[in-house]
Amino acid sequence: MPFSIDTPIKNIPRISLVYQKRLMKLGVKTLQDLFYHFPFRYDDFSKITAIGDLKLNEVATVQGKIIEIKNIRTWRKKMFITEAYVEDSSGTIKAVWFNQPYLADTLKKDSFVSLSGKVNPVRGSQKLKNPANNKSLSLPNTKTNPSEIIVASNRVNFDKALYLSNPAYEKLIANSKSPIGNQNAISYRPLATSLLRHTGRLVPVYPETTGLSSRYLRYLIQIFLPTLAQIKDWLPPEIKKFQRLLDLNSALKQIHFPVSDKAAAAAKRRLAFDELFLIQVFALQQKIKWQKDRSLKIPFDQQLIKKFVDRLPFRLTNAQRQAAWEIIRDLNKTRPMNRLLEGDVGSGKTVVAAMAALSVVNHGWQVTFMAPTEILARQHFKTISELFADYNIKITLLIGGEKSSVKKEIIKQIAKGEIQIIIGTHALIQKGVKFKNLALVVVDEQHRFGVNQRATLIRGQTQENSQTAAENPLLYEDITYEIRKCIFAVRKNIGLGHKENIYQKALEQEFLNSDINFEKEKQINIIYNNKKIGVYQTDFVVEDKIIIELKALPFIDNTEKRQIWTYLKGSGYKLALLVNFSSKDVEIRRIVYDTARLPRHSASSPLKSALVPHLLSMTATPIPRTLALTLYGDLDISLLNEMPAGRQEIITRIVAPDRRQKAYEFIRQQVKTGRQVFVICPRIEIANTHEYEHEYHESQITGICGIRGSFVNIRDVKAVKEEYQKLSEKIFPDLKIAMLHGKMKSKEKEKIMQDLKIGKTGILVSTSVVEVGIDIPNATVMMIEGAERFGLAQLHQFRGRVGRGEYQSYCLLFTDSASHQTHARLKALLTCKNGFELAEKDLAIRGPGEFFGTRQWGLPDLSMASLTNMELIKEARQEAIKILKKDYQLKNYPALQEKLKKFQSQIHLE
Ligand code: ADP
Ligand code: MG
Repeated sequence: MPFSIDTPIKNIPRISLVYQKRLMKLGVKTLQDLFYHFPFRYDDFSKITAIGDLKLNEVATVQGKIIEIKNIRTWRKKMFITEAYVEDSSGTIKAVWFNQPYLADTLKKDSFVSLSGKVNPVRGSQKLKNPANNKSLSLPNTKTNPSEIIVASNRVNFDKALYLSNPAYEKLIANSKSPIGNQNAISYRPLATSLLRHTGRLVPVYPETTGLSSRYLRYLIQIFLPTLAQIKDWLPPEIKKFQRLLDLNSALKQIHFPVSDKAAAAAKRRLAFDELFLIQVFALQQKIKWQKDRSLKIPFDQQLIKKFVDRLPFRLTNAQRQAAWEIIRDLNKTRPMNRLLEGDVGSGKTVVAAMAALSVVNHGWQVTFMAPTEILARQHFKTISELFADYNIKITLLIGGEKSSVKKEIIKQIAKGEIQIIIGTHALIQKGVKFKNLALVVVDEQHRFGVNQRATLIRGQTQENSQTAAENPLLYEDITYEIRKCIFAVRKNIGLGHKENIYQKALEQEFLNSDINFEKEKQINIIYNNKKIGVYQTDFVVEDKIIIELKALPFIDNTEKRQIWTYLKGSGYKLALLVNFSSKDVEIRRIVYDTARLPRHSASSPLKSALVPHLLSMTATPIPRTLALTLYGDLDISLLNEMPAGRQEIITRIVAPDRRQKAYEFIRQQVKTGRQVFVICPRIEIANTHEYEHEYHESQITGICGIRGSFVNIRDVKAVKEEYQKLSEKIFPDLKIAMLHGKMKSKEKEKIMQDLKIGKTGILVSTSVVEVGIDIPNATVMMIEGAERFGLAQLHQFRGRVGRGEYQSYCLLFTDSASHQTHARLKALLTCKNGFELAEKDLAIRGPGEFFGTRQWGLPDLSMASLTNMELIKEARQEAIKILKKDYQLKNYPALQEKLKKFQSQIHLE
């Protein structure tokens, strides 16, 4: 076999350039990728029937000889029809294809074929004789589908009662001898099922792209099936055995060409297990790594917390108590907390986070709250300031608008530790702030706040930290991670086989794009015994910590490594990355000037060890349990599944298009009595792909992908600007209307939110930016245009924007969709008031891809993994735990390790 499983598609001559490109479009670069391009369904053509036994409307396969084939042009000359008569020992049947005239050349007279498809009645033919056996064919009196009778009405003469319309076909090999010993038998050698591709079996149907049909994919996959024998099964045998999973190569074979439904299901189970298992191993390893870090232990001060709770104007819910307890317990450990606090809109997450913050501040350390938007940062600032009004705590808001001199002063104070609670947007805090002693990070609505983001926060911390970091076997891991991302991006963008300086330029660009702090071609003095013995010109130095040495050599060996090590030794730097872009791959070697031989340093004050902050993420996005276990396998989760008592019910209605005027009257009346109204539109302005994407991004920030999918009918989707104009000029010229969307300047947005808060604005027309966290107790109507374009959980969150005060509130859902399914989906909102249930429904109805773009989590597309299959997820997690317990570095599982590495690089590169 000349080809291996890793052979790039472009090295396979029988795949033409055109097809190579099309395959690329599907992400197929190697044969292995081809096998991992899975079918999404099978056509069951496995029933092979004698022509004389065919029944109307059944899906069947016939095999026989072509006794006649011809092309006909219809009278309108608009369509080609290919007509063939196929005969076996039991009868003859006509097959008809539309607009595939080449078939008359492909399937020649006297050749043997296998045809699969639906058996249709010929219109107008009554009692006809089957010429082969002279038996009468009975024609049931069914109504025919008009699309199937075009031909008949076009006066093409059908002389059989039944025909196959557009059947799948493939040629069989002729045989001189009769196979069955029947003299009348038409002689052909029925192919073994295993050799059939398009007919006579379970036939795979694939995700396609223009010019690349399932038929072609089947053909290609079947040709290369033998290479599967070489595929390495990386799943440890004990797991395979325990879970009764197929071997990888038979799973891949059966997923494409299953011998039975059962075999297909078994294949699917194995491949889905693989994906889930890798995710779990990855997540759990992250968790283990994360837990190797040290955080400040914050002792629980019962008096302090009790006093705080007692002074609240309300009673905490049990869920709040439980969550606060879980968090405070986590803080009281040297192991960093990594917890997700999940609770419906209005469930009271902020006060729980405030209790954690109070514990930390009380201990003399800093806390930061990060919000996805300035509006929310301001709101947090307000809430937190109110909650701590009686405490001597310095709280500051850090957002874009401030004058730089003011900001500079604030940043200085933060660095000196004079401000204890810092609230701002993600972007700002991660970029510009150095903390003196940050012990807790609270992140709002950004679920995956990763290792690397956390790193940017502690970067500025005390000198002691960075020194002791050298004792960590994974020195500067977080920055290294960023650098690796850039390196892989370079490989992806410009590929392999260039010269060194090309890589240097490309990497520089990547560093710039990623906001990495670096110096190019920095000269480093090499000093031994206090004597300068030379200068070393590096390729890069990142953050004045990590030297990067680029190569473009066929391979590198230890000479280079040693050389760099001596540079390190003579320079005071501790880590270098030797990066070689060979023509085969890029290789990154870490070279550490090992100070770990020095005595460990843990006995001294805990302040001096490399402390990372505890992390609390908050989200109002209800995440179904299956997804939580998969996507947040490395987090601990606290759930606020209980709403504070006395919350009013929001009346929800789906409004039919003809009742729009009525709805407007209702809105007018609400505004006239002093209430406020939200109008949500799916888009900012009309029809422009770019903006569509922008808006998708906008809702992504807030945590839910409501708007996904195709660009169809995009012009019909209600847009904020247009709707604003219509409402302010035509419908409500007498009311105060404002507009809000993510493209506005933050100053403008602030102004608008401010006006809304003080009641100046009656109606706010907005995109989904109002989705999270905004608190306007006076708002009573949430009107949502194009409701079908949002996910249920997201709609539920919009609804949570109203009903926050004393007034009865309403949620009005508008949709122009007449689809029954859409209505059924939206109806769930009328009865269901629980975000978690709605999320589960969303997931079940729309599938994980729609629910959360998996890409958002940096996960590769999970083609097989059923993210709704709790059973399998649990099993995969169990196995991952078992194996990591035994061997957390997977030293005894090199194949798994390698697979995981690939999987990880996919994750990082996304
Ligand atoms: P979210 O979980 O959406 O962030 P918030 O923390 O903003 O919710 O709380 C929503 C509102 O509910 C706030 O005004 C808060 O003061 C109030 N609240 C929080 N907990 C309770 C409670 N146990 N009882 C009554 N009101 C509460
Ligand atoms: Mg909130």
